[in-house]
Amino acid sequence: MIPIAAPLLGQEEKQAVLETIESGQLAQGKRVKAFEEGFAAVCGVKHAVATSSGTTALHAVILAHGIGPGDEVITTPFTFIASANAAVFTGARPVFVDIDERSYNLDPCRVEAAITPRTKAILPVHLFGNPCDMDAIMEIAERHGLIVIEDACQAHGAAFKGRKVGSFGTGCFSFYPTKNITTAEGGIVTTDDDELADRLRLIRSHGQRERYYHETLGYNFRMTEIQAAIGLAQLAKLERFTEARRANALYLTERLRGVVTPTETPGSQHVFHQYTIRVPSSSALSPAGAERDALADHLRQRGIGTMIYYPVPVHKQKVYQQMGYTDDLPIAEQASREVLSLPVHPALTTNDLDQIVEGVNSKWL
Ligand SMILES: *Cc1c(COP(=O)(O)O)cnc(C)c1O
Repeated sequence: MIPIAAPLLGQEEKQAVLETIESGQLAQGKRVKAFEEGFAAVCGVKHAVATSSGTTALHAVILAHGIGPGDEVITTPFTFIASANAAVFTGARPVFVDIDERSYNLDPCRVEAAITPRTKAILPVHLFGNPCDMDAIMEIAERHGLIVIEDACQAHGAAFKGRKVGSFGTGCFSFYPTKNITTAEGGIVTTDDDELADRLRLIRSHGQRERYYHETLGYNFRMTEIQAAIGLAQLAKLERFTEARRANALYLTERLRGVVTPTETPGSQHVFHQYTIRVPSSSALSPAGAERDALADHLRQRGIGTMIYYPVPVHKQKVYQQMGYTDDLPIAEQASREVLSLPVHPALTTNDLDQIVEGVNSKWL
């Protein structure tokens, strides 16, 4: 089976973990600090604050910006649920705006109509590693005095017009095993704002600057030294991984037939966390998503792993239905029935890629 994702951990990561264990310092040491400095440099920002996951990075950022009860955060319904949950955790309300049908990202043209006096932030997601149109989003945010929080959990190293994602607004990244680089579990926040970085560090560690002196209400959102040691080894490989992902994506796009291949936002560097194709539903008579599901079955029988990101948009999830969401967001809903992600990770061989091409193209013969 060609897996949909494969974390690439080698001798460097093993060695780094062993050295950390032998050092006796498992938390709050020099490795987390070095990882933060390295990641900040990659993003071209002043500060990076490592966390226990992408979810806690998002949660900490919502808290650090003082977003809470009565506030609204505009985001996309076509994402992993944590993007929206981060607002819910603090008592704020996610407001969903439909997506662009080609990029699958939050459609900037629809954002302004959703702004109310309660709106505090726009939270775009660089979905599948494809940067959002940050010119459009920053322009709207500036005009309305809104905070921008970038969910870059799938977009390590991606850039829009030569500038790294996570450097436009406050950036949030994840290092879950399927992400472009991993620390097993882990996350990080990126910012140029000194005060925000200070608040994030307090929120991350029980509101303490000095051990056992607590200034504010904080949590334990810390990354361990073992995670950071793996992260440092992975960070050194990020550029190589990204090149491999982009080359694999290009190979597929040049050869796949009968499906809609992914686009790259003009002027941007897509890092292909996922390679997501669309299989349009051919007729109103066939059940929604039937053609997509048939292709996934066809590929499974040929030993090719696929995944649907995401089968249910956030506003249609049971937990959001229980919160009273009744939105009608047709573009996101149609995408959830038609998208299919194919393997694109750096561990793929040319033989794997040829098998994927042959698998997809043979469906239409
Ligand atoms: C992975 C992911 C998250 C959450 O990250 P975790 O590290 O799994 O908590 C949030 N948003 C998006 C878009 C993600 O892909």
